[in-house]
Amino acid sequence: MKRRGLLIVISGPSGAGKSTICRELLRSYGENLELSVSATTRKPRDGEYEGVNYFFKDIEEFAKMAGNGEFIEYAKVYDNYYGTPRKYVMDKLGEGKSVILEIDVQGGMKVKEAFSEAVFIFIMPPSFEDLRRRIENRGTETEQDICKRMKNAYSEINYATYYDYIVVNNDIKEAAAKISCIITAEKCRYKRCNIEFENFREG
Ligand code: 5GP
Repeated sequence: MKRRGLLIVISGPSGAGKSTICRELLRSYGENLELSVSATTRKPRDGEYEGVNYFFKDIEEFAKMAGNGEFIEYAKVYDNYYGTPRKYVMDKLGEGKSVILEIDVQGGMKVKEAFSEAVFIFIMPPSFEDLRRRIENRGTETEQDICKRMKNAYSEINYATYYDYIVVNNDIKEAAAKISCIITAEKCRYKRCNIEFENFREG
């Protein structure tokens, strides 16, 4: 029987580098690893594409999907809704692929309730000054948005305690390498191995 894939939740404050780390993770260690693309009511930023970064929905479409149970979890983050598509994730896990969910802490907590066997990784910025600088350098948010995201970052960091691993993003490649090690170690956990010990008995 094919082993189910690993469900990996990656959270952390906006600007901590989650998306860049996930891209690097897929580029360098992407074998059997999939990134779930969420649905959102947020408008696309420059350089974002439908189905690549998000599935962009209007509020009515999103509400309908939520009502039909099409999301594993969904949450309101910074005035917009974001949701994780159930079918894609369950199909990939069933195929034995590991799936990354890059979601906020509210979503992370909901996944924890429903999938206790998932692995929870929190990306921490090296400092708050660094976080602010990264959000500013992105150049996609207004000053008001930046303040909102910084305020939210303080409360999000309190949730790190519910996660299994903390990865500080001092360097994208190093952070991606650490996550790859975590995934490898988690796959080797006794409880995930389903070893048929009968096959190894003497006689
Ligand atoms: P952004 O607007 O910067 O792309 O994302 C804002 C926040 O929403 C980020 O913390 C991101 O991880 C989170 N997010 C993205 N997709 C989902 C999702 O499907 N569910 C939840 N709960 N959060 C999400």
